[in-house]
Amino acid sequence: LQRTNYGAYFKKIKMEKDYILVGQGIAGSLLAAALLAAGKKVLMIDNAHSESSSVVAAGDMNPITGQRFVKTWKAEALRDAMIPMYASIGEMTDDALLFRERNVLRVLHNAKEHNDWHARTAWEAWQGFIGDMKTVDKTAFEAQFKGVFGIAEILQGGKVDMQNVLNIIKAFLDKSDSLKLEKFEYENMSIDNKHINYTLYDKTPISANGIIFCEGWQAIHNPYFNYLPFQVSKGEALVVRLPKIYKFGHFTVKNDITISHLNDDLYWIGATNSFEFVTSKNTEDARIALIKRLENAINLPFEIVEHRAGIRPTVKDRRPLVGQHPQHKNLYIFNGLGTKGASLAPYLVNVFMDFILKNAPLEADIDIVRYADLWYKAKN
Ligand SMILES: Cc1cc2nc3c(=O)[nH]c(=O)nc-3n(C[C@H](O)[C@H](O)[C@H](O)COP(=O)(O)OP(=O)(O)OC[C@H]3O[C@@H](n4cnc5c(N)ncnc54)[C@H](O)[C@@H]3O)c2cc1C
Repeated sequence: LQRTNYGAYFKKIKMEKDYILVGQGIAGSLLAAALLAAGKKVLMIDNAHSESSSVVAAGDMNPITGQRFVKTWKAEALRDAMIPMYASIGEMTDDALLFRERNVLRVLHNAKEHNDWHARTAWEAWQGFIGDMKTVDKTAFEAQFKGVFGIAEILQGGKVDMQNVLNIIKAFLDKSDSLKLEKFEYENMSIDNKHINYTLYDKTPISANGIIFCEGWQAIHNPYFNYLPFQVSKGEALVVRLPKIYKFGHFTVKNDITISHLNDDLYWIGATNSFEFVTSKNTEDARIALIKRLENAINLPFEIVEHRAGIRPTVKDRRPLVGQHPQHKNLYIFNGLGTKGASLAPYLVNVFMDFILKNAPLEADIDIVRYADLWYKAKN
């Protein structure tokens, strides 16, 4: 009988990567694609989108928001990064259209809102974002929506097909042997000066030069980064079917609630926003509240098809959390995309790639260095 070295046979072969990424939401997906395109070897570990915010989001990009019609932080730069990045992800399959231009129609409910909007239209920095309403059928709008005192048309909005982006990148990671669908367990990681060592569920050891955490709101459980001031917010949304006579699917309409076309006669309706919640799942209270808000917004019947819930990785100062761990230089975080993952992620990926591959400095607004004092406090 030939002797077999069972020990060597069963011993798992070490996997060597440049970077381990944890979390395949919109943040981790776009970053993984950029790293692969730059020739880096990555391993994405994702717990099958368990409680991912990206899979419930509408994917809308609105450059002017809030009661005071505030221009979104870096609105122009975000758009400049989004359009080519989503186009190139689309090219990974059959030219999937992942970003669509979509203007926003916002209902003005009273004279004050009307005046505030018109005051904004005169501001230099808002030029390019103010629509002239030429293509809006105002009579039909007033018939289909309730409480219309006036309408503001906001240009340069858009819609990202978030689920498709995630699916395309997931398939690509899988094909290139760069994906493990399992929960990342922090206690299975060890760090030395140069390497990250991690053991997968099947006992395969991995060694990487760095690890980038992109866990969305679940980063609050990350022992290395939980000192950061996440202020996560839960959002629930509905998917409804609207009758074919609905005329405004080519716009995102905001009438207290957002109505955003998905496909065919299906529309995303949302969302709630709550900083205090006891469950991450759907709730009956939110469902009732969303139905009421939609009934107050439109003059059309609707049928509920789906109810979604997710938790946004919002931050106390409403800015992303990006950078390097204060003590372990090969640990990174790419997070804090809050309510705007669809539009922030491409810009931040470009900035982060320059940071890790070219040593370019991060902007003070997004760099986690701004919270160094919290780390020292947590450590002592
Ligand atoms: C109701 C609602 C509506 C929204 N609408 C919009 C919108 O219209 N436009 C917009 O731009 N943004 C919107 N957002 C915000 C948007 O969803 C987020 O900004 C964005 O999705 C955050 O992406 P992320 O990749 O950081 O996190 P996530 O999408 O949460 O991804 C994190 C991933 O990490 C995985 N993970 C976490 N921990 C572990 C672990 N230990 N092991 C393995 N895997 C792990 C998770 O399963 C998940 O797949 C909305 C959010 C909600 C809740």
